[in-house]
Amino acid sequence: MSTDDYDVIVIGAGPVGENVADRAVQGGLTAIIVESELVGGECTYWACMPSKALLRPAQALRAAQHVAGAAEAVTGTLDVGAVLARRNSFTSDWSDAGQVGWLDSAGIALARGHGRLTGVREVTVTAEDGTTRVLRARHAVAVSTGTDAAMPPIAGIHEVSPWTSREATSAQEIPESLAIIGGGVVGVEMATAYAALGATVTMIARHGLLGTMEPFAGERVEATLREAGVDVRTNTDATSARREGSEVRLTLVDGSEVIAQEVLVATGRTPRSADLGLEIVGLTPGEYIRTDDTLRVPGIDWLYAVGDVNGRALLTHQGKYQARAAGDVIAARARGEQVHEADWGRHVATADHATVPQVVFADPEVASVGLTAKAAADAGYRTRVIDQDMSTVAGAGLRQDDYQGQARMVIDTERDVLLGVTFVGPDVADLLHAATFAVVGEVPLARLWHAVPAYPTVSEIWLRLLEAAGRDTA
Ligand SMILES: Cc1cc2nc3c(=O)[nH]c(=O)nc-3n(C[C@H](O)[C@H](O)[C@H](O)COP(=O)(O)OP(=O)(O)OC[C@H]3O[C@@H](n4cnc5c(N)ncnc54)[C@H](O)[C@@H]3O)c2cc1C
Repeated sequence: MSTDDYDVIVIGAGPVGENVADRAVQGGLTAIIVESELVGGECTYWACMPSKALLRPAQALRAAQHVAGAAEAVTGTLDVGAVLARRNSFTSDWSDAGQVGWLDSAGIALARGHGRLTGVREVTVTAEDGTTRVLRARHAVAVSTGTDAAMPPIAGIHEVSPWTSREATSAQEIPESLAIIGGGVVGVEMATAYAALGATVTMIARHGLLGTMEPFAGERVEATLREAGVDVRTNTDATSARREGSEVRLTLVDGSEVIAQEVLVATGRTPRSADLGLEIVGLTPGEYIRTDDTLRVPGIDWLYAVGDVNGRALLTHQGKYQARAAGDVIAARARGEQVHEADWGRHVATADHATVPQVVFADPEVASVGLTAKAAADAGYRTRVIDQDMSTVAGAGLRQDDYQGQARMVIDTERDVLLGVTFVGPDVADLLHAATFAVVGEVPLARLWHAVPAYPTVSEIWLRLLEAAGRDTA
């Protein structure tokens, strides 16, 4: 057993932990990161990167198929082997050598093994061979251990060895048929990908699809999934599962059966906090680790929780934003410098509360930021909701012959600023950041009117929305 001292210990080398350590080192501190699997975390190997790599070729093909002239040139189908090979390259064939090299170049030490809190500012790392190493932090320990797929309480589900997002994003063969339990983002994206790659897909969703977003998002995505041949079963649930030979049989609440070669469970996430030694600091293992806006655990001045494991916003970009705040505030506190903890200060993650951007890479794409109309009303805002059909925009028609889409903005009528914006349509992902500027910046609509979208682009939807809001004479 050896003992080492560092200024900061980070448990978990996902995108978030890497950024906490990097910012702390840039702030003049020493840092070590503890990782039990692959440096780069879920996002790099089993989530964002491989899922988007699986989706992109089909999206590119669809785009060409919907532009006359180009469509005639596209006569083949997806090359599944090439799609999977390209996906493999985005995960570096599940090797973290590149990311380990980056840690080195950033001056961050690495300890391979499982990290657990064993005392105040103390983490014990158990390596795969059972050897242990005790790390002590002079200033802070940051927990960035992420989440695992949650298992729903379906009788027999464990016995059928279901896929989680890990198997779905790393499969080297496409099953003939796939049943997906869950109608959230992961379920929708994997249904889109696997249907395009040739599997017969059945979705089982407790409510509608994409339930936390504006209702028209899930409705449009559901319609396209059905057109693509996906059997979408909403307002239902699986009650039991059993494997018979090469098939899984799921029984639904109405007694009907869904039979598929594989079943993917996509029913949410659970924090990786069960085996972290949280009990020694009075926290409950297995729960999300709640923090203040500087990502510090209330009442424990040396402990931070950053990224998915704090449950604030389970998205890589939001976790990395938290990491920048956390790494910087750890360094500022260590050096006795001023902490900027008022809302929107550089040491707080204010944007987590009501201005989170998200893209669902389905067909059509869904891009949203801030509050939905329902969430805004529930939060007590007086709102006005403006909806516009995106097919009326010249730039949209040029982009795709039969462009269909919808946009919504939710206005706070008291302050005349935007609380939320949602776009649903082909290639809307890159429209989102303009909306994020408007929402985060609380830009008054009267001023937004002067942000003129270039002609002929899909961004002209902004003009349609603002005209409809009555700002054309402002
Ligand atoms: C299928 C899927 C697709 C997604 N797509 C997107 C997307 O397109 N865009 C987006 O923004 N978000 C996406 N997400 C969410 C995104 O993956 C997470 O928000 C992100 O990975 C969180 O980063 P993290 O660093 O907090 O945790 P993780 O990436 O989960 O990393 C945590 C790390 O901690 C390590 N670890 C855990 N416990 C210990 C321990 N005790 N000791 C040592 N190491 C430990 C783990 O091995 C892991 O490497 C997706 C999620 C899924 C499931």
